[in-house]
Amino acid sequence: MENCIFCKIAQKEIPSTGVYEDEHLYAFRDLNPQAPEHILIIPKKHIARVENLQEEDTELMGRIVIAAQKIAEKLGLKKGYRLVFNNGPDGGQEVEHIHLHLMGGRKFSWPAG
Ligand code: AMP
Repeated sequence: MENCIFCKIAQKEIPSTGVYEDEHLYAFRDLNPQAPEHILIIPKKHIARVENLQEEDTELMGRIVIAAQKIAEKLGLKKGYRLVFNNGPDGGQEVEHIHLHLMGGRKFSWPAG
């Protein structure tokens, strides 16, 4: 989608540090990391928010979680990691292209702030 920063990153129009890519997904390092390892996993298809998901996206969303598993293994996050979808303004979503945060390399507290 035009003017979507994550679409531009997926299309390599904006540079990023990629850690995983396949036909459906792209994963890259967050520019402002909140943990020693902080990766964003995005679908190449533009979907703004969870509310915009369709039944047909079920497999795609599963692929995102499986990609997180593969990346965490590659990064050696044996002690666990945090997976987060910020969704909408109250959810803290800044970029309107659905993305899974994969953060690891430190211990996280709960409840989230
Ligand atoms: P969210 O608040 O869940 O929408 O998260 C958006 C994330 O995208 C933030 O953690 C930003 O640091 C990150 N971000 C924004 N622009 C870029 C970029 N050009 N490259 C990498 N990460 C980015």
